[in-house]
Amino acid sequence: MHLLPTEEEVVRVLRDTGALRDGHFEYPSGMHSNEYLQVPLAMRYYQHAKMLSVGLSRLLRANAEIRALIPELSIVAPATGGLPVAYGVCEALRARQVYWAEQDGEGKAMRFRQYLEQHPGEPVVLVDDLLRSGKKLSAMRELLESRGASVLGLAVIIYQPTPKTRDFGPLPLYYLAKLEASYYSDGAHCELCRRAAPIEKVWV
Ligand SMILES: [Zn+2]
Repeated sequence: MHLLPTEEEVVRVLRDTGALRDGHFEYPSGMHSNEYLQVPLAMRYYQHAKMLSVGLSRLLRANAEIRALIPELSIVAPATGGLPVAYGVCEALRARQVYWAEQDGEGKAMRFRQYLEQHPGEPVVLVDDLLRSGKKLSAMRELLESRGASVLGLAVIIYQPTPKTRDFGPLPLYYLAKLEASYYSDGAHCELCRRAAPIEKVWV
């Protein structure tokens, strides 16, 4: 395995571990899709987790601004799903620290553990397993910036854009593979519903 896996290698790992599934899925937002991805299923296996996070760390290291700040760099995950990736990236880069945010419930504000404070200008890379809606990553970025940190980039294993994905403007975005599924705003507009394909509800 090379240090930077190809998109095909990444997708093969996702399929082999059951992380990437074809079918007919309904998201909690009501959106329907022909594809579903649950990266933690691939991150269960140490060798895959290592390959994916080392690959992502190499993309980050290629950014001169980020590379120069590695000894000071914080790797921050917006939720626990991003933690295996965040620790893998931090270890591969030899960055300073890893931490994460939590939410008390759906729709509640994100927060850090008590006594966890950012220092002014703290350089941060946001890391997660997946960028789909970008809702949590964008809330995380706002929270960090409001506390004086400086967000330098965004790194995810998989970029799976939907028509509703947030725009992060000029913030550098790194990913190992991009997946283009078909999305339908609801059942009434869904091609798969029209064909009466059996549907599965997904909860993340
Ligand atoms: Zn449907």
